[in-house]
Amino acid sequence: MIVVLKQNSDERQLEELRNWLKKKNIMIQESTGESCSIWGLVGDTSELDGDVIASMDVVESVKRIQEPYKKVNRKFHQQDTVISVKNTVIGGDDLTVIAGPCSIESEEQIVAIAKAVKNSGATLLRGGAFKPRTSPYSFQGMGTEGLKLLKIAGKESGLPIVTEIMDVTQLPLFEDVDVIQVGARNMQNFNLLKELGSIHKPILLKRGMQATYEEFLMSAEHIMSGGNEQVILCERGIRTFETYTRNTLDLTAIPALKKLSHLPVIADPSHGTGKADLVPSMAMAAVAAGADGVMIEVHNDPEHAWSDGSQSIRTETFDTLNRKMIALHSLVRE
Ligand code: PEP
Ligand code: MN
Repeated sequence: MIVVLKQNSDERQLEELRNWLKKKNIMIQESTGESCSIWGLVGDTSELDGDVIASMDVVESVKRIQEPYKKVNRKFHQQDTVISVKNTVIGGDDLTVIAGPCSIESEEQIVAIAKAVKNSGATLLRGGAFKPRTSPYSFQGMGTEGLKLLKIAGKESGLPIVTEIMDVTQLPLFEDVDVIQVGARNMQNFNLLKELGSIHKPILLKRGMQATYEEFLMSAEHIMSGGNEQVILCERGIRTFETYTRNTLDLTAIPALKKLSHLPVIADPSHGTGKADLVPSMAMAAVAAGADGVMIEVHNDPEHAWSDGSQSIRTETFDTLNRKMIALHSLVRE
């Protein structure tokens, strides 16, 4: 961190700032020029609040040199993080394909979709039991009963299961869930992130629809700083001025996040576009951009789906798509 000091600053105030920084184990490299003086702060500056320093009387401006996230930062962890979930691996050599309906609707529905996506080569099964819906009048998910059905479908298909948690109080219900999803709307629910940092289970963290890469990575840092190092980042589209699509899938986020962090990065072209006919192209584009995996909403009867039917692809479409994604992925990995 670099601190530019105001000209003719009060020496007593400068001494106070020196002492304050020293107490935080920060070394100061002072460089005094004719028109301005600069301090280079050396040490662990991740806990320093640049805005607080910038607001001090003697300070002109502050510039961060190092990212504020440590645990997720590739600079301090060169190798890719690889996460094992039952019989599959996320962030390794093979493409991770998480497929399933937006919501769990019945045992028949979730088991049929689970078997279909497994046959097509999916590696994990998704399905929402607790649904964050824009309208309070929309279907809110089957809740605990839905979780039970998802577990049955996971067992019958042999696929590990991924499902969304909406609140810390639900955590005891997620004991048999293989990967816990934190939705876009909860990306900055810091209480929830903190709690998930204290468990030993992979967390699929979705990017908030208005979040910068740094804010997204800081949310992952919240989980990791609690001791849980199994975090998967998911780009799921952001808000832009475009209204034709539900969101704009930010493909640049994939190589950018992989450069900034060692965590696995996956993409969700279903929420990223909101339109089933755009999903295959954007899923392929995500794989081409270097994603470690994709999460795709798949339904056996999208017209009658209880949520997000318009962005859910049919099981047959998924079958063709998955074959193409796997072929493309091996090309990208070469
Ligand atoms: C979901 O995956 O079903 C979901 C609600 O996604 P998001 O949090 O990205 O909107
Ligand atoms: Mn959905």
